[in-house]
Amino acid sequence: MKKRIYIAYTGGTMGMQGTANGYAPAPGFLEAQLAALPELRSEMVPEYDIHEYNPLLDSSNITPAEWMTIAQDIAAHYDAYDGFIVLHGTDTMAYTASALAFMLQGLRKPVILTGSQIPLFEVRNDARENLITALLLAANYPIPEVCLYFGDMLLRGCRAVKLNAVGFDAFDSPNYPPLGTVGIEVAINWKALRPAPTMPDTLEVRPIAPARLGVLRLFPGMSEAYVQAVLQAPLQGLVLETYGVGNGPTGDLVFMDALREASARGMVIVDCTQCLKGSVNLHGYATGSALAEAGVLSGYDMTTEAALTKLFYLFSQGYTLDKIRQLVQCDLRGELTAS
Ligand code: ASP
Repeated sequence: MKKRIYIAYTGGTMGMQGTANGYAPAPGFLEAQLAALPELRSEMVPEYDIHEYNPLLDSSNITPAEWMTIAQDIAAHYDAYDGFIVLHGTDTMAYTASALAFMLQGLRKPVILTGSQIPLFEVRNDARENLITALLLAANYPIPEVCLYFGDMLLRGCRAVKLNAVGFDAFDSPNYPPLGTVGIEVAINWKALRPAPTMPDTLEVRPIAPARLGVLRLFPGMSEAYVQAVLQAPLQGLVLETYGVGNGPTGDLVFMDALREASARGMVIVDCTQCLKGSVNLHGYATGSALAEAGVLSGYDMTTEAALTKLFYLFSQGYTLDKIRQLVQCDLRGELTAS
């Protein structure tokens, strides 16, 4: 029997058409083009159903509300399909992939996000290959994870980052090996996959609700007013993008006081490095230890996308602050390697 794949089509370049203002989503446009692709009628291609969202979004307009919609959509169709594809714009795909990884508790089927840099209607495009390969991967490989497939690489969703605004190799997961590579052969890196969960028995959607979160990227010459404005109540959680192995300007007493006060007030501050590769080690330098003493927590090798969506997730579960502080430093979905 042919496998059945559910495609949640949220928007993004893949199905866009050309307008006077540049590419924009157009209802019905992608499905009409797919209907005309003979490859999709091949025996080797699984059956698929497309659910087109209304409105279709450029992913720059995706919010946590859409993360919820996508997660609930997958859950509603979970039993009827063998795998899931989320067609999504590339701009915020790594955020959605990370959010879904936290929200889809007990996932045992592949959920693959993909999209393209050039729309399918253009003669030269990466849409066709990304979509067809994602369909084949979702149908033929028992990958119990939220993944991102793009430009020949299957990546763990909560490890992925967009690092090329124009290339077909737009994504990578600098701190985790690809889950698969696609060339003449499809090579799945079985050792890198997480085992299928044993609990819970069925897929559960863990909600993400609005939370007051921020990202502060350190830079030399940050003004006092800027630091104080960012760290003000009612901000609940902050991803602090630091230098190197997690260091910050500990000689800046205004900054340090603001951190200490915010943390004492209950803000959860997670240290992620600005470097794409490597992990935070808050005890490597005095400029890191002082941050830890001020209440900053290690984000280890998490991407900013994973750390931010993890904070959204943790703040939405009704946990105590202590529990949030503990869990943010633990590996929940393969998003971090604690040293
Ligand atoms: N702006 C587009 C989006 O994120 C870019 C893309 O899909 O590649 O929806």
